[in-house]
Amino acid sequence: MESHPNPESLKLVQCPNQALFTKASPVIDFNEYTKLCAERMITILKSFDSGIGLAANQVGLLYRIFVCQNNLNEPSIKEKSHSIYINPEIIEKSSNRISGDEGCLSFPGIRGSVSRHQEITIRYQNIDGSISSKTVKDLEARCFQHEIDHLDGINIPQVFGKKDFNKNRITLNKLKFPFQLPRPILTQANH
Ligand SMILES: [Zn+2]
Repeated sequence: MESHPNPESLKLVQCPNQALFTKASPVIDFNEYTKLCAERMITILKSFDSGIGLAANQVGLLYRIFVCQNNLNEPSIKEKSHSIYINPEIIEKSSNRISGDEGCLSFPGIRGSVSRHQEITIRYQNIDGSISSKTVKDLEARCFQHEIDHLDGINIPQVFGKKDFNKNRITLNKLKFPFQLPRPILTQANH
């Protein structure tokens, strides 16, 4: 992969694109290029009705950036806005985990239950490099954990329980999912 593709040329990549299975690197330069890439990610995310979050790996860019729709826990808010999270780190997580159905723009046709922490606090950087933290719960926390997994090269089939993984096997075959991959979090899922 070219390390600095033209932001305008970025587009959604799908399984089995190697970027999805690669750990992304921290952003060090908070420059115009980083800003253009993040803004392009929001444009791409908004072009999919079903998408609520998008990680840089999903546009073939191996930097630790994700974008997420705001106010996910308040469906009554009709105005859709998005935020950019750079170099996110989970600094606190609830011991309480909840299983919920997830899909992924990069894995069309795949759906299954994933166990996530109900509430997490992340520390992250903004587009100007300043540091913020944010505590989120429920769907917002689920989305953040899904996107942070992407930045580590981990995708939903790798965190499904055995039953949900097998349920998706035919579609995963069609998507040329690399079945030889270790599925590191599987044993922690409460299935
Ligand atoms: Zn995803």
